Amino acid sequence: MDSMSVEQRSKLMAKIHGKDTKPELLVRRLLHAASYRYRLQGHVSLKTINELRRKHPDVTFAGGKLPGRPDVVFSSRREVIFVNGCFWHLHDCPEGQHAPRTHAEFWDTKRTATRARDQRNLATLRNLGWESLALWECQLKDTAAVLEKLVSFLEPASSKMAQTQATRGTTNTGK
Ligand SMILES: [Zn+2]
Repeated sequence: MDSMSVEQRSKLMAKIHGKDTKPELLVRRLLHAASYRYRLQGHVSLKTINELRRKHPDVTFAGGKLPGRPDVVFSSRREVIFVNGCFWHLHDCPEGQHAPRTHAEFWDTKRTATRARDQRNLATLRNLGWESLALWECQLKDTAAVLEKLVSFLEPASSKMAQTQATRGTTNTGK
């Protein structure tokens, strides 16, 4: 990977970073299978965005979307999920911490800026009263673990209940 030109790597990153990347699709498939309804790419209803704009005139909602354009949006729950590529968003894992030797400064500047922007967006969303979950590409290999993470983020109370039921050995699935 280190021998790639900036242009080649940019193209590759854009591909990975763009819409409908594989990790994002996996998360969407899981949510869909679990019957969650969601919107994509920071999209909320006109009513919601107007309300947010009225309450938070200091915040910019570019294109009528939530700050940072979260990959998955649960509008009525006021919860969002970001699916982050480890390299691009400078995750604290081997892939994320990998520093290309070629054009090192270019990548460092770009990735550091992305990470800083991510942190600003998370803080802004928190101030708006929205909760965020960041899922990292490297954590998506274990599908069952991802689903568990999604459910405990979306249903903190009921997942606790499910755990209690599991420890009690109950077979009642709530149907
Ligand atoms: Zn990672």
